Amino acid sequence: MYIIMLGGPGSGKGSVGGRVSEDFNLPHIATGDIFRAELKSETELGKKIKKYMDNGLLVPDEVVIETVESRLSQEDVKNGAILDGFPRTKDQAIALDKFLAEKGKKVDAAIELDVSDEDIVKRIVKRVICSNKSCGESYNTEFKPSKEEGICDKCGSTLIKRADDNEETVMQRLKVYHDTSKELLEYYKDTGVLYTVHPNIYSKTVLEDSVSEVETYLKNK
Ligand SMILES: [Zn+2]
Repeated sequence: MYIIMLGGPGSGKGSVGGRVSEDFNLPHIATGDIFRAELKSETELGKKIKKYMDNGLLVPDEVVIETVESRLSQEDVKNGAILDGFPRTKDQAIALDKFLAEKGKKVDAAIELDVSDEDIVKRIVKRVICSNKSCGESYNTEFKPSKEEGICDKCGSTLIKRADDNEETVMQRLKVYHDTSKELLEYYKDTGVLYTVHPNIYSKTVLEDSVSEVETYLKNK
């Protein structure tokens, strides 16, 4: 099963996708993680990506497609995957459909987490993440605090703020998201795989509720 997670930055698609990945035993492929790995190892691709990310801009389609298709050619994802952060444009979605079709596969569901911009800003400026790269757990000082302030529940490492988690950058990313996602959402609506969830981020059980709604939908597909 190939599942696409859609939603603006901070919509919770990473957390929901991660849980569905565990429960359905499908690798969770976050484009952001692949990109950060490329940046860290300072590959040619990484240097190209850095230039765009530093300016809050999207990485061009051909670079993204090349990166993701190389990841999707690996053995562990031959029965499916959960994609987070890809596709981001209609052209990327068409490229993905073509790539999967050549292997006799298809996108089974595109799950959209629809959260208002106002709520997303609140969420992101209060986000902290684990400094331990192999853990990467994400918290929110208001909505999902760690048990001990500044310390990761999972591995005990220090929690840090990502440099791009400030209001100005978030607004820029939201604008880019809305500009590019409109066509993408319409594309998945037309191909009949779009399913939209409206998470209530003020609920303590928002993650569980969203996961449960998504999994019920996928099981009944
Ligand atoms: Zn951790």
